[in-house]
Amino acid sequence: MSDYNINGLAIPLFLILMLVEYGVLRLQGRRLHRFNDSVNSLSMGLLLLISDALLKAYTFAVFIWLWQHHRLLDFPVESPVTWLVFFLGVDFCYYWFHRVAHQVNILWGAHVGHHQGEEYNFTTALRQSAFQYAFSWVFYLPLAVLGCPPVVFVVQFVVLKMYQFWLHTQAINRIPLIEGVMSTPSSHRVHHAKNPIYIDRNYGGTLVIWDRLFGTWQPELPEQPCHYGTTRPLDTLNPVRANLQHWAMLARDTVTTARWQDKLSLWFRPTGWRPADCLALDAGDPGMQRTGCADRPKYDPETTRGKKIYVGCSMMLTFAICTVFIFLSPQLPAWQVATGTLLVVAGLVVAGDLLENRTRFRWLELVRIPLMLWFAVSLWGAIAAG
Ligand SMILES: [Zn+2]
Repeated sequence: MSDYNINGLAIPLFLILMLVEYGVLRLQGRRLHRFNDSVNSLSMGLLLLISDALLKAYTFAVFIWLWQHHRLLDFPVESPVTWLVFFLGVDFCYYWFHRVAHQVNILWGAHVGHHQGEEYNFTTALRQSAFQYAFSWVFYLPLAVLGCPPVVFVVQFVVLKMYQFWLHTQAINRIPLIEGVMSTPSSHRVHHAKNPIYIDRNYGGTLVIWDRLFGTWQPELPEQPCHYGTTRPLDTLNPVRANLQHWAMLARDTVTTARWQDKLSLWFRPTGWRPADCLALDAGDPGMQRTGCADRPKYDPETTRGKKIYVGCSMMLTFAICTVFIFLSPQLPAWQVATGTLLVVAGLVVAGDLLENRTRFRWLELVRIPLMLWFAVSLWGAIAAG
């Protein structure tokens, strides 16, 4: 494994692209960003990058071990056929991970974060569930057994992830020649929409031919403008709560339901399935948006300009430190990784709180900000030592 995690370097690149998208939309006179939605999306993105940095070395080690000891075929790295076969292979496995992640309760809990945003722009691309990679890596293991060289897998996976970034925008309309073959902003807008006709459609990563083959293809319709978000609305700007939203409901149902066989099986049932006694108890709760689309008030608590400015500055500091922190994470000692993770998570929770006008953790900033600056200096020490 490399001594550096290049995901860290993606942070400034993505931030620049987000600013370009914002500028282009404003020039067109379109307002498709909301400050608290963007902060929440970016907070979720940072949590994913950190959890990925913590997990990747272990999950990729399993892929390498399978390839070294149990591969069925030998694919030479220098052959274009290898790259073509595993471009299709990685995209195919992604399709099935993505589809199962939407359709099974426990896995929806590890993907729902990507869909909670009620706006749709480049910040949505970074918005991911922190625990997604804890599940998704298993879906790519058949490629190791088939004989995909690890370096080919890593490059194709990065290409897949980079490709998906530009799909999350309303600034680009239909693209005639590739629509229906490649994933496009239009096909992916459909995937993020909660209009009934669009739900559980267009799972494809780079290609949507899988959707056409397996019956999940749906083009964007002019008469059905997309409405974004999940049918069970997100009611928090706290990125930790947002990550645990679906699993928390499943855990409550596991404790509440009287039927023993449901306590475990509900985690593996189709997404949204709940025991009858839990549903009956929740009758007064608006819960899921039954009508599917439009007209739902967005979760948009009012806050002061001062709090927004503070949160903006805090996020910029967090982004700057995370860029270096994630880049260096493979070579940092455990105490430094743990400290950095705690400081970042605490900062993101406080930022979300302030945008909801909560002040319960405000005192924490008096300790956290000096600690963040000390942590930045300690990272600088790691660079100098390296
Ligand atoms: Zn999805």
